[in-house]
Amino acid sequence: MKAKIDREGCIGCGLCADTCPEVFRMADDGYAEVYIDPVPAECEGTATDAADNCPVSVISVE
Ligand code: SF4
Repeated sequence: MKAKIDREGCIGCGLCADTCPEVFRMADDGYAEVYIDPVPAECEGTATDAADNCPVSVISVE
């Protein structure tokens, strides 16, 4: 699985990094980034939850 963030739309709420810190983190510019590729198998569930719960729906997983 691959996770992507359309960072231009991120509002920096931090939810994804709280939900799945193994895959998402807050970068120095205050917006989220994906820092592991591919998503480890054991994190696919929480990475999908993070994508589903992003308030501006800018995370995609495939
Ligand atoms: S949940 Fe969405 S809006 Fe919030 S920090 Fe993550 S990518 Fe940005």
